[in-house]
Amino acid sequence: MFKKILYGISIIFFIVFSFLIIRNANLSSFIDSVENRTFDLRQNLLVKSGAKSPNKDIVIVAIDDATYEYILDNFGEWPLPRDMYAKMINWLELQSPRAIAFDLMFVKSLKSKNNADEALIKSFKKYKNTFTSMNLDNQTEDLRTPPNLPDKLKLKINNKSNIDFERLTFTNCRTILQGILDVTSNIGFINVSRSEDGILRTMPLVVKYKGNYYPQLAMRVGLDYLGEPNSTYEIDRQGNFKIADRKIYLDKDGSAILNWYGGAGTYQYLPMYQLIKAVNGERTNLKYDFSNKIIYFGTTASSLFDIKTVPTSKVYPGVEVQATYVNNLIDNNFIRKVNKGYTITLSILLALLIISVVTRINSAFTASMMSFSVYFLYLLIAYYAMKYENLWLEVVYPLIFSIFAFTGAYITKYLVKSRDFEYQYKLATTDGLTELYNHRYFQEQLRMQIEHAKRYDTNFSLIIADIDFFKKFNDNFGHQSGDAVLRQVAQTFKRNVRATDIVCRYGGEEMSIILPNTGKEEAFFTAKKICERVAERKFKLFGGKETGVTISLGVATFPHDGNTASEMIEAADKKLYEAKNNGRNQVK
Ligand code: GH3
Ligand code: MG
Ligand code: MG
Repeated sequence: MFKKILYGISIIFFIVFSFLIIRNANLSSFIDSVENRTFDLRQNLLVKSGAKSPNKDIVIVAIDDATYEYILDNFGEWPLPRDMYAKMINWLELQSPRAIAFDLMFVKSLKSKNNADEALIKSFKKYKNTFTSMNLDNQTEDLRTPPNLPDKLKLKINNKSNIDFERLTFTNCRTILQGILDVTSNIGFINVSRSEDGILRTMPLVVKYKGNYYPQLAMRVGLDYLGEPNSTYEIDRQGNFKIADRKIYLDKDGSAILNWYGGAGTYQYLPMYQLIKAVNGERTNLKYDFSNKIIYFGTTASSLFDIKTVPTSKVYPGVEVQATYVNNLIDNNFIRKVNKGYTITLSILLALLIISVVTRINSAFTASMMSFSVYFLYLLIAYYAMKYENLWLEVVYPLIFSIFAFTGAYITKYLVKSRDFEYQYKLATTDGLTELYNHRYFQEQLRMQIEHAKRYDTNFSLIIADIDFFKKFNDNFGHQSGDAVLRQVAQTFKRNVRATDIVCRYGGEEMSIILPNTGKEEAFFTAKKICERVAERKFKLFGGKETGVTISLGVATFPHDGNTASEMIEAADKKLYEAKNNGRNQVK
């Protein structure tokens, strides 16, 4: 019973304590950042174990360092003339690719020649499977007035969740060539959302500007691929973005969590200069079948500054982020993070399991190993949940809860044990009826007092008391009343001695008091006081009546009356006998 209450209390404490941690914003954001690192670790393990492979239909045409050099050598300056992009589009279209997407912004440029821009615009107009990008920002209105974007770029979204998209809402926009805006609606945004530690783990599906939702570039490409380019979309109450038969989980900011397929160079990768050479009819080693492929154009050159850090790589080109994103979308691989409520519930279950392990198993080593195994098993489940279900089970909160549960259960176990010990000790040294010390304890203490008094050359006294005519009392009032009186006499004794005095039940209705550092006179005074208090008191009998009793007491003092325990007892007994013979109710 006692144990159960203690365990109950420790569980309540544990839960309250846990909630305090969760409610602390700094602490919980720290825990979240550690959790993010465990996500990275899992992603890396999965990638290294070869559990995930990228979609082979995604190809990257990279403006890499070699291409950058090629462009400077052959065109004199960066950027590449726009009609060159037009030529590449037209060339690629002959092979019927699924989509051509540019992770590049064709902004208005004073250097760009008008007819070159026109050629590019024409290609975008002609091929409905070409996509390009634009970027929202928060520039002030004195730099540029926030432009109005064409209605056709919007996505209609019915947001039933409580995600407010605040972090994905922008106040300004740098537009691209008006001609492109006029001829196509295949424009997506390339704003990214990084975690607090700067690592890119999530991507917006949509961004918000002037009260409207706009799709991310990869979202635009993916929607087209899935055959759902212009529907109205719903974000359900649980925060899932619904596209056709799939539900994409959004985090609290409104971003989807990407599942990574590898480090830099995950996708089939062609340096753009080889494509340019092929388009120009020059000799090149480009042998590639682009039919039905999703082709992404983007920069990988370090000098062009579109490099991100992602869970699987410190250096990961932005265009590969786009590719990963569209890959997640078409293969339905986005990560679903288990919500906080479930995480806490799981953590509590794990903690309870560990508490019960620690409670049930006596060996500390076995209990520790078992507790560790419980958590380790959970880690394995978390790993496989990500591998097979794309599910992100948090592991840090469960770890913290497990550690608290483990240490808490141990402390409780220790407390219970020490309470047990105290209880056993009390049982061994006290008398059940009177709650005075018992005879054994009395003998022990008496011997110790003698040792002590001898060693420090001090004195102490011993009083032995006996209730007068108690046999008769029992005969008159019954044994139960006798017991009641015995208990009350014992209380009277305890109330009238010092805290350092040791009151014991010597036997039957005899009681003894050891008074350390007490001489004859003082002991006599105490004995007299007790004698008077007992005599003047009314004792409650079994059944409600009251009556008085008297006691007789004998006092002996060390070393005057005896040098050993038995001599001291004998001396006190003798005095008690004298008191009895002298008429009782007195001290001798
Ligand atoms: P006196 O001491 O005054 O000479 O007379 P007495 O009748 O008290 O004699 P004695 O001390 O020899 O008797 C002890 C009696 O105390 C015997 C028993 O009936 C009673 N007694 C001893 N232990 C208990 C107990 O635990 N409960 C009750 N009710 N009575 C007890
Ligand atoms: Mg007696
Ligand atoms: Mg007696």
